[in-house]
Amino acid sequence: MNIRLNENFARIKPSYLFSDVAKRVREYAEKHPDKKILRLGIGDVTLPLTPTVIRALHKASDEMADASTFRGYAPEYGYDFLREAVARHYASFGVSVEAGDVFISDGAKSDLGNFVDLFGDVAVLVPDPVYPVYVDSNLMAGRTIEYMAGNAENGFLPSPAGLSDTPRLIYLCSPNNPTGAVYSKEGLAEWVAFARKTGSLILFDSAYEAFISDGSPRSVYAIEGANECAVEFCSLSKTAGFTGTRCGWTVVPAALGALKPMWERRQATKFNGVPYVVQRAAEAALSDEGMAECMANIAYYKENAALIAALLRKKGIPFTGGTASPYLWLKCPDGMGSWEFFDKLLYEAQVVGTPGAGFGGAGEGYFRLTAFGSRENTREAVERLDKLL
Ligand code: PLP
Repeated sequence: MNIRLNENFARIKPSYLFSDVAKRVREYAEKHPDKKILRLGIGDVTLPLTPTVIRALHKASDEMADASTFRGYAPEYGYDFLREAVARHYASFGVSVEAGDVFISDGAKSDLGNFVDLFGDVAVLVPDPVYPVYVDSNLMAGRTIEYMAGNAENGFLPSPAGLSDTPRLIYLCSPNNPTGAVYSKEGLAEWVAFARKTGSLILFDSAYEAFISDGSPRSVYAIEGANECAVEFCSLSKTAGFTGTRCGWTVVPAALGALKPMWERRQATKFNGVPYVVQRAAEAALSDEGMAECMANIAYYKENAALIAALLRKKGIPFTGGTASPYLWLKCPDGMGSWEFFDKLLYEAQVVGTPGAGFGGAGEGYFRLTAFGSRENTREAVERLDKLL
């Protein structure tokens, strides 16, 4: 082959994190086949889809078997029934979003990755540590990234204080993956004010919004004026267990001017919609009955998180997250590095977590545990860590 490739791909670090974790666990398991390994590293849900969602999937599948109710191509931006259900979901926690500004997708990762198509050579500001897609999608597009450190001093919630007035694309993730930290209304309002003052655009990732129950903002649009400076990405992956079913949405408010027609054009050109059956399942998840079931599942994960949090408190290990998030982000004890602590937990307690260094330079010395496991495994892991730490 003799064609020029996108050289920007060479700038992306190969994503070794989860494959490195898997490799180390595999090697350990091969050497110690008698040991039961408990995995608290995964960012995937384990509870099945809820009965309301399953009923909707069956019903929609039956509709596809009948010529009079069969559906072909879905509308590129999503069926109205789902765009309206999403708008009602926002209204249920007091946030006003127009159904026509909601774009249905196969999940937040695709939209976060694709949205960067709309921008030219612009400055990009990304928190560190953070979900790696923001960084890699901008590197692929040839942009340079400025990082803002989340650390113990700022509670892993960087603020705009001290930043220059350069207009930027600003990524915010709340509740954050991996730190579980959540912006307060005041904290988020600072960012909205900064974006408006500087002509910046906030790309707000609210994939874990359903874990919030303390009144913290579940959407950037809880802040006045955000519809003039923010796009929001959300997903049913963690809210409704859709990691394998695939459905999410992006809100691009009309008040952002050129951006909404550009996203419409981009989606109409490169995307052909989410399957009808999945959109019906998503509508069911967002119904009152469906959401009550989803919240019961989230409560289960949060109880797991509380078990882990209680242990960390008992051991005097500083951590964030675990209350409005399935993630607990802890400081590795005794000044240990992320991978050193990973090996200690694997070899001495057969518990697997995720080294913080994998989420950015500022994550070194930290470690992520998740509450997505079963109660039984979480309890057993907590007992083992209680003995070890
Ligand atoms: N945003 C964050 C912060 C995530 O942690 C994840 C998944 O782990 C996503 C987005 C992607 O979610 P989806 O499954 O909707 O693509």
